[in-house]
Order: sequence, then C-alpha cells, then structure tokens
Amino acid sequence: MQAAFPRLWQAEQRAGSLLLGMLTAPRPKRQKGEARSQRRLFSFHKGLATWPQAIARFLGPERLWTGARALDLRPTDGEWHVTVQRAGVVAHLLVSQVILAVPAAVAAHLVDRLDAQAAAALRAIPYPPVTLVHLGYRRSDVAHPLDGFGLLCPSDENAKVLGTLWPSSLFPNRAPAGSVLTTAFVGGARNSVLTNQSEEALIAMVHAEQQRIIGVRAEPVFARTIRWPQAIPQYNAGHLRRIAAIAQLEQRRLGLHLIGNYRGGISVEACWQQGRAAAALVARLIAHEPAPTQ
Ligand SMILES: Cc1cc2nc3c(=O)[nH]c(=O)nc-3n(C[C@H](O)[C@H](O)[C@H](O)COP(=O)(O)OP(=O)(O)OC[C@H]3O[C@@H](n4cnc5c(N)ncnc54)[C@H](O)[C@@H]3O)c2cc1C
Repeated sequence: MQAAFPRLWQAEQRAGSLLLGMLTAPRPKRQKGEARSQRRLFSFHKGLATWPQAIARFLGPERLWTGARALDLRPTDGEWHVTVQRAGVVAHLLVSQVILAVPAAVAAHLVDRLDAQAAAALRAIPYPPVTLVHLGYRRSDVAHPLDGFGLLCPSDENAKVLGTLWPSSLFPNRAPAGSVLTTAFVGGARNSVLTNQSEEALIAMVHAEQQRIIGVRAEPVFARTIRWPQAIPQYNAGHLRRIAAIAQLEQRRLGLHLIGNYRGGISVEACWQQGRAAAALVARLIAHEPAPTQ
C-alpha cells in the first residue's frame, strides 16, 4: 500500500482516516513564478514517442546518443567506466555520475557485480505482459455513447480484458469521422496467459467482449495488436524492501543513481518527476553544490 499508493497511505497515517486525510490534504506549495499546475490528459498526434524524440532533436547528436545500449558499468578510480554499444560500435565513457533509467531487469544486469543483493531485488520486481488490442468500429455499430474515458473490469466479473480506453473520445484524430477507436488491455498479473494467443484469436476474443460490454453490433473496420512482453512493474508485497536494497546500493556507490517506473510511481508524470529530480541532483553534484535539506 505504502509503495503503490503513497499519497493515500500518507493521508491515512496523518489523519487516521482515508476520507479525512484526502479532504484535509495540504495543497502542494508553488514556487515563486511557477504556474498553477493543471492536471489534464495529454498525448501527441503521433503518440508519446514524439516527446523523447523532441528532446533528442533539441539536444542534438553530440550531447545525446539515441539507439545506444549500455553493456557494462564499473567503478574506476572514483569515476564510472560505462561501456556502450551504438550502431555496432563499442564505446567507452569515463564519467563521474551515472543515472540508470532502464527497466529493473536491465539495471540488475548492470549492477550485478557491484551489489548482488540490489541486483536480486531489482530482478524480483515482476513485469507481467500486456497486449493492447485496438479495434475500430463505425459509430453507428456501437450502442454505448462512449461518453467517457473507458472502463475497468473488476476481477469478480471474470472479463477477458483488464479494461478498455476510448481514445477517440479522449483525443482528436484518433479515428476517421463517423468511426470510434477502442483500446483494450489484455493480460497483466491476473491473466498473463491470455497474451499467449495469436493475433487473430486476441482480436476475436476482445471483439466478443466489446459486443457484450458496449453493445457492438458489427465486425471491426480496423484491428491492430501491440504486445508489451514486460509491461508494467508490480509493486507487490515486499516492494519497499527491494527499494531499500536499491537505495543502499546508491549510498555505497557514490555517483550511481537508479530511476524508473519500478520506483516512485508508474505513471508518465511520476517518471518525468523522477527524471527531473535526478537530473537536478546530478547537476548539483557535478557543480559540487550541497544538496538542499529536505
Ligand atoms: C501498455 C501501457 C500503457 C500505459 N499507459 C499509460 C497511461 O495511459 N498513462 C501513464 O501515465 N502511464 C502509462 N503507462 C506507464 C508508463 O508509460 C511507463 O510506466 C513509463 O513510460 C515508464 O518509463 P520509464 O522511463 O521508467 O521506462 P521506459 O520508458 O521503458 O524507458 C526505459 C528505457 O531504457 C532503454 N533501455 C533498455 N535497456 C537499455 C540498455 N541496456 N542501455 C540503454 N538503454 C536501455 C529502453 O530502450 C527504454 O527507452 C503505460 C504503460 C504500458 C506498458
């Protein structure tokens, strides 16, 4: 609970009740000149990859290498020796600070020789598979008004999908005029075996669920599946112990920082916050500035 829903947990600890805690939660302080944050859904016309691609364009190929794979990491005379492979060429970098912003299993591989306990903790974080099944229908073939975000299926309904988003209700240009797009999530920790099916079987299964749940009356006019074999890390019981082992590694090995969706929240926003915080910390360390007190 503490790892997966820290704000709820803190609210309950502070006020002795979930409801009271949320109602009386202190508002986050804004820095001088900081705009009021407006929480709303966002995406990009060509998908979320637009964001890192724009950052890469802004920084340029001299400062940012894309398509590079970290192969090895070892401490050398107070610095870090990083072995990276890019376009088939192996390069060696000597740096004072390293931020590992890779999935937990990759981080485990890179820190294996430095700290077996932290590596084991990273490997123990499960990432069940999820397959997305996008089905497009003619608007007139769907009984439900699709006037919302989508739906989540509670486990006691034994549905074949974890939930469905309605992207054409959320963002413009997600389906041609007169059509709608539905995106179903299949698999996850509850039903990972369902992702092992062929594309045709997945489409037929999800179409049957759309008929049942939102009253679809005809075959889809568009169908596409996308598989995520290791989708989202699970903050299972014991997660805080694993994170503590990772924090100990960082304390023992100065200049090494581990971030990612297995730590501090899985949402894009949570990952972005972690990235910003890690970058600010590293910038201060490189400039030999003291870290601010909490
Ligand atoms: C299907 C799906 C739907 C989602 N929907 C939403 C949503 O609607 N809203 C939301 O907020 N969140 C959503 N999430 C969650 C969110 O997208 C992720 O948790 C988040 O993007 C993860 O960011 P990350 O930086 O931790 O990991 P990643 O984005 O996975 O980044 C890790 C990077 O490490 C790179 N890498 C791997 N190995 C190496 C190596 N050896 N060397 C160098 N680089 C390496 C990878 O190429 C990758 O670019 C969704 C996730 C999934 C799977």
